[in-house]
Amino acid sequence: MHLFSTLFTAQSVDRDLRTEEGLQRCIAWCKESKLQKVYIESFRNGLFIEQELLEKARDRFQAEGFLVHGCVTPTGLPKVSNNWKDGGCYSYPPTQELMAAIFRRTAAVFDTVMIDDFLFTDCTCEECDKARGERSFADFHADLMHEMSVRCILRPAHEVNPKCKVIIKYPLWYENFHKNGYETVRQTRDFDLIWAGTETREPDAERWGRYPQTQGFYMMAWDVKLGKGKCMGGWFDPYTTTPPTYLEQARQTILGHAKETMLFCFRSLEEEQPGMDDTAALRKERPGLDELAYLTENKAIVGVSVPKQPDVDAAEERYLSSFYGMLGIPVCPETELDEGAKSVLLGAQALGYPGVRDYVLAMREKGAALAYSKAFLRVTGLDAQEGVPVVDPGEDNWSLMDMPEATLNALRDHLTLPLGLKLRAPSRVALNLYDNDMEVLQNFNDFDVDIELDLFGRDPKARALALVLSKDKQVSLRREGRRYFVKLPARTLAVLF
Ligand SMILES: [Zn+2]
Repeated sequence: MHLFSTLFTAQSVDRDLRTEEGLQRCIAWCKESKLQKVYIESFRNGLFIEQELLEKARDRFQAEGFLVHGCVTPTGLPKVSNNWKDGGCYSYPPTQELMAAIFRRTAAVFDTVMIDDFLFTDCTCEECDKARGERSFADFHADLMHEMSVRCILRPAHEVNPKCKVIIKYPLWYENFHKNGYETVRQTRDFDLIWAGTETREPDAERWGRYPQTQGFYMMAWDVKLGKGKCMGGWFDPYTTTPPTYLEQARQTILGHAKETMLFCFRSLEEEQPGMDDTAALRKERPGLDELAYLTENKAIVGVSVPKQPDVDAAEERYLSSFYGMLGIPVCPETELDEGAKSVLLGAQALGYPGVRDYVLAMREKGAALAYSKAFLRVTGLDAQEGVPVVDPGEDNWSLMDMPEATLNALRDHLTLPLGLKLRAPSRVALNLYDNDMEVLQNFNDFDVDIELDLFGRDPKARALALVLSKDKQVSLRREGRRYFVKLPARTLAVLF
């Protein structure tokens, strides 16, 4: 069963969970939101909650029937990064000592502790510069954060509570992991569990990176692959969203196979806008989201293999791999090169794999369908196959949404015909595939669209509308043989099964 949870930041614990009145209000809100779990944070922005209050809050929520975990946000540390005030300098011994103290206290209270995605550093101060030797700052940050994680987080936590599981949450901004010290291979190996950031927020909001909605799915499913059983859930927030984009974050998180959705955070959702409007929308959508999880959770994500190598940041075409979904390409995120794939889309995110040229040549010999980005071909010196469009996002990935219809169709057909299907739809319509017999369509446009989906090579059983989100939307489905004609309203999801 898919779980929903929220987080009380350390500031919120301090303000809301000290008094009986505050506790009652928080418990009531969590019950109204039908949450099964809460995270009680012990540290954020330099505020370190005393152990007695953490225990009191834990016991009270447990008595009300909630699962209760801890959380830590490493901000407001004794020495901040010289490049960003919310980041820490981890070369500074008092920072390391405080980290160990935070995890000793938090693990003493909770059997599971999540770390918000501030566990990185971009510090290039004199002390860091001296400590790095002749390593690049990127390699230094990666080594430093990994060694610090083992010594100041995992060891103290496990010493004080051998049962404690520490969760590292990887951010949504996957092109800066290595540079800033998120070492996803070594850290995934050493941490007990991992988590995915799926907070794409409003795609038009310049400030937050203009991420496409489908990046939430891409990162969620990629982290599940990375974790090999260790990835538990996804985490998103309401900042800059409208209710439709907020609900789309929830849908992508579930489609990407999260076992749990963490709604950050109580305070932003309960007393601020747009969180309050988003919460109202989510409560209404909740039975549908539960159903979406029920339908998809035990089915394999299949489709066009789109690999992104862990711990290698693409220097150009950044974040391109999460845009393919917006073009209706049914993406299957991968951490490795899949030698069994029927079709593969290779961009800058795949350039770092050793022997990637050998992979391409071997896959061509096998007769797999391959497509490439412009940078991939330029760097590897490979040629595209005759008649296959090359993905060229230029300076702005969003420009791909204006690809001429004929080009878009040629690209999609090349990649999906080997999978036994053909899609006709405008851009900003996504298609996700589960096993051989379930298709999920999503319209991210603010207008209704007509979709034609030919499932000539997939499971022949007749599809019906298994679920529509939101449930008050009217979707029409017509079938001719194995071709389906779908009229999908704006900002709507439909499951064919
Ligand atoms: Zn430093």
